[in-house]
Amino acid sequence: MTDADSVATALAQLRQGLEGNRLAHAYIISGPVRGASSQLLEQFLPLLFCRGLVKPCGECAECRRVAAHAHPDVLRLEPESKSRIIVIGEAGEDEGIRKVLRFISLTPFIGPWKVCVILDADRMNGPAANALLKTLEEPPPASLLFLLAESPQALPATIISRCQRIAVSAGAEVADEPWRAPLLEWLRAGPAADPLLTGVRAGWLGRILDAERERVADAEAEAAKEEGLEKEVIAARVGARYRAVRATLLKELLFWHRDVLLRVLQVETGGFHFAAEAEAQQRQATGLPAAAALADVRRLEKLVQRLEQFPEASEAALLTAGLPQRAK
Ligand SMILES: [Zn+2]
Repeated sequence: MTDADSVATALAQLRQGLEGNRLAHAYIISGPVRGASSQLLEQFLPLLFCRGLVKPCGECAECRRVAAHAHPDVLRLEPESKSRIIVIGEAGEDEGIRKVLRFISLTPFIGPWKVCVILDADRMNGPAANALLKTLEEPPPASLLFLLAESPQALPATIISRCQRIAVSAGAEVADEPWRAPLLEWLRAGPAADPLLTGVRAGWLGRILDAERERVADAEAEAAKEEGLEKEVIAARVGARYRAVRATLLKELLFWHRDVLLRVLQVETGGFHFAAEAEAQQRQATGLPAAAALADVRRLEKLVQRLEQFPEASEAALLTAGLPQRAK
């Protein structure tokens, strides 16, 4: 699915909610915050306010105000450029999450909605998230909250459970991620032909993951220098971001084996995730019983689950035990 496709799908979902009067009060939109996620809102928000006959008309005062980020019923909040953290804000000051809470409790100026968009919501600190939680528990009428996050799993579970989730694809940005090329090489090689070699193969994948862990830690350490954060906060953030990268990477493994299964079953489909890898995948599919191809997919699903469920367990051990393998 391309970026434009995933934005269109998400837009259709929101539009149906609006037309059926079934919009949730709060949404988490996961994806590139200033890319696809922002594009989605640029297309959706005019629908809420437009006064044209065919919405959004793009011509009326409301459409123009929304497009110019100047609508009095839409508030955008993003991390302070210096700290890169979303804070609760000082009591009595109109800043941080307090600004959101005050804004959303007011009656709409023009209406009919009050909309708050929080960019990089995964960068809220604890007090900010707690303050926001109260609003999520008792949302004011006609209020809509959009939390845009690249690592939504870094949000507190209490917040996640009160929001509907919408994912937009990372598209081109993901394609540039440094783990992609070595992972592809790893995938092309296919499962180890001997169970004894699965450990070697798991080690190979482990090194790709280690490089990512270092990259995430470096980026966070750089950010933390400016913010003067405590060690535990940095470690927690590195952990959350690393798990997000690992989850994305493992999903690619799952997609690969799903493709192989489709090829084993000789399903005519345009829906291959790795459409450009037909040759390598066909090589792995040839002579593979369907049951074994299906077992690979199941095995990976279980591996993804285990890694999520047991964050303290040894990653290397889980990988060695959980990767697809071939009996001798
Ligand atoms: Zn309009």
